[in-house]
Amino acid sequence: MFKKIILSLGIITTTTLFGFEYKIEPQKITDNVWCFLGETAPPTKENGGYMSNSCYIKTDKSYVLLDTGSSYKFAKKTYEEMSKIAKLPVSDIIVTHVHDDHWLGNGYFKEKFNSKVYGPSLINSQHSHGSKTRMFNILPEDVMHGTEVVEVDVVVEEETVLNIGGKTIEIIPMGFTAHTEEDIVVFLKDEKVFFAGDIVMNGRITSTRDGNLLGLMKALNKIDTMDWEYLVPGHGHDTSKTAADQIKLYTKLLKQRVLTAIEDGVESDTISDVVTLEEFKDVNMYEIFNRRNVFDAFAELEFYDGE
Ligand SMILES: [Zn+2]
Repeated sequence: MFKKIILSLGIITTTTLFGFEYKIEPQKITDNVWCFLGETAPPTKENGGYMSNSCYIKTDKSYVLLDTGSSYKFAKKTYEEMSKIAKLPVSDIIVTHVHDDHWLGNGYFKEKFNSKVYGPSLINSQHSHGSKTRMFNILPEDVMHGTEVVEVDVVVEEETVLNIGGKTIEIIPMGFTAHTEEDIVVFLKDEKVFFAGDIVMNGRITSTRDGNLLGLMKALNKIDTMDWEYLVPGHGHDTSKTAADQIKLYTKLLKQRVLTAIEDGVESDTISDVVTLEEFKDVNMYEIFNRRNVFDAFAELEFYDGE
């Protein structure tokens, strides 16, 4: 009994001294790709913002990273885990879009390796060194400790090919608004891995708040035409051939049903009560995003004259 008490005191002390700790494990996608696949949930103090995906491409010389998560501490932990696989420096980071849960880990790699950061211009126009982004308001100090905004070094405006340590990595800006105004996708052709950023999510409902539905559907179609075997979503655990099935069905039904409701004379103030997309009601984050997605789709489709 006495021993037990001492033991638990020890645990409390450790927690107080070192604060929040991530428990994470890389998933091997192909021979040279590992991903940390976050919870399909909102950011909370329990998950420490580990609710987006972050991937490592191993080359002969270094790692190239796709998104770095919500905090300095998270990034550091991913690197500790990857060092067990190969102790390589991180030469480059590619950020898929402006949302901060995908790039607040950059500071760790900038500090340790002076990694070069590729990404959308919006990060630099909306944030600057020292500014506090959305995650700082959601996550507690012991999670965010050490986290800082790092600006993008290379704004990706056109297709860019990186040849690093025997790997050819294609960085492709979408070129139109989809999940956000500037989405970047990445293709590792040799291993047929396509990194879709938040254009693809599974196991949760998407948010069209900073993008638009028709652009998102167009981007999903474009991804369909590429020759990949593995599709890594920005959120979600399915990285297989079926990774985009859920969001393709969701966007298709969202568009169809909102258009039908508009034809039936439904107005914007009741559209979210009429179009409920019931078949998705058990998917994570439905309660948070579905009504808003329907409402926004109404505004977008009100004067739609396409097919
Ligand atoms: Zn995201």
